[in-house]
Amino acid sequence: MNGKDPQLESCKARMNDAQRTIDQAQYELNRLQSSIDALNSTIDSCTYRIDDLKHSVDMEYEAVRTCKAARDRYSADNHRYRAQDFQNERQRQIEIRRGYIEERRIIISDKKRYIDQLKDARSRKKEASDAFHARLETLKAQNAQRNATKAEKPCKRCGKMIRYDVTWSHIPNYCKECKASFQNHSR
Ligand SMILES: [Zn+2]
Repeated sequence: MNGKDPQLESCKARMNDAQRTIDQAQYELNRLQSSIDALNSTIDSCTYRIDDLKHSVDMEYEAVRTCKAARDRYSADNHRYRAQDFQNERQRQIEIRRGYIEERRIIISDKKRYIDQLKDARSRKKEASDAFHARLETLKAQNAQRNATKAEKPCKRCGKMIRYDVTWSHIPNYCKECKASFQNHSR
């Protein structure tokens, strides 16, 4: 298995390419998740503020009823105006929160896109990795088959080891050097 096998190299390139996509998608997903976390906490604060304002509105209307019962018209009107102010502020906060929720919705759909990309890249990586290992097994088997018929024996003249294949029709008795020297002498 010397030199680079083009099939193995192509599998490796596909694995690396998929890994790059995985890294990129993971980076984007982390970034988007941070934005979602930040928005969640902002939305929670808004909700807290909205609930708080609801409580203030209720308190003011309660005061309106108390003042009315006491026939204090002036104070009742004042409490009604304050209730209205709280109610307006509450409406404003609800609008602000709606904006954040919309922002979050867009980020979540972006996130889904990257999750799909990640899934796709992971399956491409798995496919390339499986192909890589299958090819490696094939090459190993071919190599073993080639080595199975390889043999060695000593040169009958100098004793140097001669490498040969048992499937050869003629198996040499002498090494190349000795054979060359016989040919020179016989001339
Ligand atoms: Zn020899």
